[in-house]
Amino acid sequence: MGTVTGDRALGCIAAPIRLLRASFSALLCSVLPVALCALQLAPGSVAAQPPAESGAPKENYVLVLTGTPPYTPAFTVIDQGMQAAVARGYARPVTFLFETLDTVRFDLAIDRLTLAQLIAKKYENLRPRALMLVTESAVDLYLDHLQSLWPGVPAIYHSVPRDVAQRRYANRGLAGIASDSDFEQTLRIAFALQPKARRLLIVGGVSEFDQRELAQARQALRPYAGRVQIDYLIGLSPEALAERVAREDRDAIVLYVSLLRDQRGLVYTPVDVLERLSGASAAPVYGAWESFMGRGIVAGGIESLWSRGERAGEMLVHALQAPTPLAPVTSGPIEAVCMADARQLERFGLRAGLLPDGCELRFSEPGWFQRFWWQSLLVLAALLGQSALIVSLLLQRRRRHAAELKLQAQRVQLLHASRLAVAGELTASIAHEINQPLGAILSNADAAQILVEAGKMERGELLHILADIKRDDLRASDVIKRLRALLARHETERRSIDLNRVVEDAAAILRHEAGRRAVAIEYALDASPADVIGDAVQLQQVIINLILNAFDACVDLPDGARRVRVVTSNTPNGVQISVRDFGAGIALADLPSVFDAFYTTKGGGMGLGLSIARSIVEAHGGSISAASCDVGAEFRVILPLAPVTDVPEQRAGDTT
Ligand code: ADP
Repeated sequence: MGTVTGDRALGCIAAPIRLLRASFSALLCSVLPVALCALQLAPGSVAAQPPAESGAPKENYVLVLTGTPPYTPAFTVIDQGMQAAVARGYARPVTFLFETLDTVRFDLAIDRLTLAQLIAKKYENLRPRALMLVTESAVDLYLDHLQSLWPGVPAIYHSVPRDVAQRRYANRGLAGIASDSDFEQTLRIAFALQPKARRLLIVGGVSEFDQRELAQARQALRPYAGRVQIDYLIGLSPEALAERVAREDRDAIVLYVSLLRDQRGLVYTPVDVLERLSGASAAPVYGAWESFMGRGIVAGGIESLWSRGERAGEMLVHALQAPTPLAPVTSGPIEAVCMADARQLERFGLRAGLLPDGCELRFSEPGWFQRFWWQSLLVLAALLGQSALIVSLLLQRRRRHAAELKLQAQRVQLLHASRLAVAGELTASIAHEINQPLGAILSNADAAQILVEAGKMERGELLHILADIKRDDLRASDVIKRLRALLARHETERRSIDLNRVVEDAAAILRHEAGRRAVAIEYALDASPADVIGDAVQLQQVIINLILNAFDACVDLPDGARRVRVVTSNTPNGVQISVRDFGAGIALADLPSVFDAFYTTKGGGMGLGLSIARSIVEAHGGSISAASCDVGAEFRVILPLAPVTDVPEQRAGDTT
């Protein structure tokens, strides 16, 4: 710590008091707080007398006399640690008084005797029970002058370099704590993090304090001499320093010692300079003070300022409690420990894993998950919920698809069963239609046999009989073919079909049944074009169903009155097939029910024909409706016309 300049002569106490008083008035305001300017030194009171025991203070005042500026971060932390230890260890309340010499930064323009007298006068009414001396300028002032002014008041010191403490204060009856900056450890940490570093920059100032710190740093640098290039940047202004380190290589190591004053004599707070330096530096910056942590250094071997304050506080408690003076012991520095700034490590891409074991990593940013844990959990829960929902929807879709397939298969079976039922209904007609040509064939064969046996068979007649047999055979075969087409299981087809042809085929199947029931069927196949996309067999099934229902409706009519009209025509919505009968008709109230499954008014009816017809028509994209007429009923099926362009043939996967 800087030596306080000025007159060190101790004998000045004897100087004429009046002369001193004259100079005090001017000095008072420049050194002490303004409020104290009003203080007038009473004649003869300059050399403060030892306080009389009778006037023992009611309050416990402790005067902290410090050579540091009043608000340095380091001093603030030490002071808080000290006060915390006193509050913990001493039962009675203690009031701290602070007197800042600020000699760390400035040379005082007052001789030290005068200053000591002034301080003694200032605190005459607040007689301290103990003194806390911070930095050697405070210790020196105490030893040289204040001790004799306040005899018997115990004093403790801290923030004094170990060599100064040992050299100057060991035999002066003082107790205190020495403290050194641990540059050895700081350099070890720097080289652990940057083993490839070949260049070392030492940054320092020119104040006495800076120089003393630099001397310590130089000691620590000895083992590295020759191994790395060492450059000293001493006394540069913060601007010049920033500009200089900005050009450095990332592999270099910058050791920031302290910069209280630059070559121009300008005074700074070291941490402010560090912030500037580190902000601009291309190379990692290291330092040995705790107040540098978080302000720009990557790491360092650092003494806990709080612990230093606590230890000083504990000594103070002892001094306040003990009636006898403290044993004059100089306590060693608080052991420096490795501390590192996680943000700076990350900035320079240095691996925290290279730090010595047990190194305290500060400012480590919590991970994304740690910072947003509850939001993350929320999102995770939402994602899980969503996934579960998606899985359940997929399962549902699969189940629905399976159910649809099953339904489709059942529908196909139903369609087939329904066609078999139609076939059953037509059995008599079918048998007749087949029997007729078979009978004709038999008759023709018989006739041919008779003629042959009688020897009257001519060639021309034989050919004629054979032609008849062939025609009748083809007729029977046609009937069977049509029936097979209707009844065979087949894949549902989607192809362009002519609806008029479908009606004609249905008419062929029903021709004999119509005759058997004595129903006259009129066909007016006027639709043109009549092409729709779909399955011819299924549509034929619909038409047969409608016509058979029409036959049933006519059953009670007298012969000759049974009439059914089948018409195809074009409507704006597509091709229409209407089946009109003149039978019993449908009561208006029953109209909505006729397409319901199992609705029937017939004794042996199943009530499935129309419901199946509707499902077929709707599967073809069409519609079916029933209307009650004045006489009889009319059913209309409308199917969309096939597009004009060629429609590729498709096959659905079901069979009917
Ligand atoms: P089913 O013929 O087995 O009764 P459908 O579903 O084909 O089954 O017909 C259901 C009902 O609709 C019939 O029972 C009948 O009451 C009525 N129906 C159908 N077509 C006609 C029609 N052309 N005239 C009068 N009623 C009809």
